[in-house]
Amino acid sequence: MKTYPENEWLMLSGIQHYVFCKRQWALIHLEGEWQENFLTTEGKIIHERVHNEDLTEKRGDLIICRGMRIFSDKLGISGVSDAVEFHKSEEGALLAGYDGFWRPIPIEYKHGKPKADHSDILQVVAQAMCLEEMFCVNINEACLFYDKIHRREKVEITSELREEVQKAFEEMHQYFKRGYTPKVKIKKACKSCSLKDVCLPELTKRQSVASYYESFMEVD
Ligand code: SF4
Repeated sequence: MKTYPENEWLMLSGIQHYVFCKRQWALIHLEGEWQENFLTTEGKIIHERVHNEDLTEKRGDLIICRGMRIFSDKLGISGVSDAVEFHKSEEGALLAGYDGFWRPIPIEYKHGKPKADHSDILQVVAQAMCLEEMFCVNINEACLFYDKIHRREKVEITSELREEVQKAFEEMHQYFKRGYTPKVKIKKACKSCSLKDVCLPELTKRQSVASYYESFMEVD
């Protein structure tokens, strides 16, 4: 199986941008643009809260690790998991400093409520795939916690979801290698997009960016 050297690893969290819009992902991860809107700002506050708490906590047969660094050289990605729960189980892995075997389950905290698209689900599945590689275990579930509904949503890690994650990262690696930013495609998501002012969707609907800039060059 193909593996990626560390200097080619992409940010795991980029998959949520990629699923939302390939162009948004490229603007952030290839071109380094980032604009804060209320969605990204509130999302950041939730993540900061999660990452600021004590890093590791043990409650009986449960260990919770917050802000854990995770990676996969098969997918060519790295990132930070909001929380990884380790449940005592014969199907788990050895953990330094703890007796027995522990089965990891990634938990991702999100602002709002479950989305219509697959972006949050694929992000947490990618985290599970990283943990499988790091601990040499099989993981068949992950969780998403949404602050608006204050409830955990269980995600079953199916082979279809694994394939989607793998395909998305393969495509992202290809775009990254080519340095290619996909063109604007106006869609409903553009309204809440944190990069709409950079991407100029309304403008490009009316006229091309090139002709817009050309209009500034015209001499009376
Ligand atoms: S404004 Fe629309 S096309 Fe542009 S990056 Fe955002 S979602 Fe994508």
